[in-house]
Amino acid sequence: MSMFQDIPVDVGIAYEGERIRRTEMYVEFGGPDVKFKFELARVRRPEEVKDSEVIIIGPDIKDIPEGSSVPLGILVEIAGSQLEEGLEGIIERRIHEFTNYVHGFMHLNQRYDIWCRLSKEAFKKGFNSFTYLGKVLIRLYKADFPIIEKIQVTFITDPKEVERMYYEALKVYEARDAKARGLKDEDVDEFYGCILCQSFAPTHVCVITPQRYSNCGAISWFDGRAASKVDPKGPIFRIPKGECLDPIGGEYSGVNKIVQEKSLGAIKRVHLYTVFNYPHTSCGCFEAIAFYIPEVDGFGIVHRDFKGVAVNGLKFSTMADTTGGGRQVDGFHGISIEYMRSPKFLVADGGWERVVWVPKAVFERVKDFVPEKVRDRIATDEDVKTIDELKEFLKAKNHPVVNRWKKIEAEVKPMEVKVGEANVPQPAQATVLEGASISGIPLTSGGFKITLKGARINIEKVIIKRSVSTG
Ligand code: SF4
Repeated sequence: MSMFQDIPVDVGIAYEGERIRRTEMYVEFGGPDVKFKFELARVRRPEEVKDSEVIIIGPDIKDIPEGSSVPLGILVEIAGSQLEEGLEGIIERRIHEFTNYVHGFMHLNQRYDIWCRLSKEAFKKGFNSFTYLGKVLIRLYKADFPIIEKIQVTFITDPKEVERMYYEALKVYEARDAKARGLKDEDVDEFYGCILCQSFAPTHVCVITPQRYSNCGAISWFDGRAASKVDPKGPIFRIPKGECLDPIGGEYSGVNKIVQEKSLGAIKRVHLYTVFNYPHTSCGCFEAIAFYIPEVDGFGIVHRDFKGVAVNGLKFSTMADTTGGGRQVDGFHGISIEYMRSPKFLVADGGWERVVWVPKAVFERVKDFVPEKVRDRIATDEDVKTIDELKEFLKAKNHPVVNRWKKIEAEVKPMEVKVGEANVPQPAQATVLEGASISGIPLTSGGFKITLKGARINIEKVIIKRSVSTG
């Protein structure tokens, strides 16, 4: 007998990854049109938790007009003799997975940024109360975490209460994140991996190190350690580091091995601290995107809540389509906000000295972690709107990338370019590697030579055809 027989819709892993479009939705909770939303898990004393209780503060689903976007807070409170505060992060992250098991319910993102939709079809079938969602959560939590002895779930839709608790939740997230700061990758023997997002991005594997927070910004190295202990067969697992193959780029033999296994061979190498060649994969939950801007040889950052177009003329949603899906995309990189506070943030690409544009809302959150040398030289959305304006801004502020432009211009020498079977660098790499030759198959006999004098090259595709002599 199914443990969900009293739930009006099917519940199961098969429904993870289900998308509900606006035209199919009955009602939406959180998301870009709603400022206050959150989800939070707390470990409480046994007497503070009424086991299996679902509490609703504010209008229930059936009382919300069809087509609305409303605030939502989800609070999961648990008690158990073996539970500790260090487990809250991973318990909280499973809300994403468990609510997505409900056929007709979609949950995206995390923490302060949740975006949920209920389908018209599910509502029609009778899924018209948070009580059902609460029951699903309670049963799945108890099944997966036997150490949870008592659990109660509260759904808050009352706008004032959501707003009040939102600020409380932000403090809890910050305390968790602060705990993980200071620890270095070199101080530990193992990292942790997470494949919770494979339902949306089948080849994605998050590699969580002390200095690289997960893409969603919800799982720290400490959370990974706690999760792999209490649920060793779960979606969060240990990654023995193995040999460090590249300390700057952040390549480890152990990471390569596990990522290859968990992505079923799709991803063979990962360089944790760069946006090029073998970058960390991006799922769809990333809080922000670091994007390469070839015109200035620097990076912009755009976060999920940024409503306008970024300095490259693209919206977050457009860039997210290019970035996500579990692929390694040169020049587009899904990141968390906390990773921007790490001393290893994009360190192989120049770190903050390579960042040229960040929306003010995000910059304010991380600026204390930006090296003083560049703190006042990075443009925000309030300073510039276009690439031309950005160039002028960077020149006026003498941003470190400007020196790169000068170096590049000075270094451009006549180049001999041989083209062949090896990877032809992407435009981004070509700019970085200007002055270097592109090697390929040896063209010793009957070959050809291309000489470009004093040129900058951006190559997207090269087709070489041998000409046939007509005598
Ligand atoms: S973004 Fe990464 S860490 Fe976060 S839930 Fe998805 S796979 Fe796990």
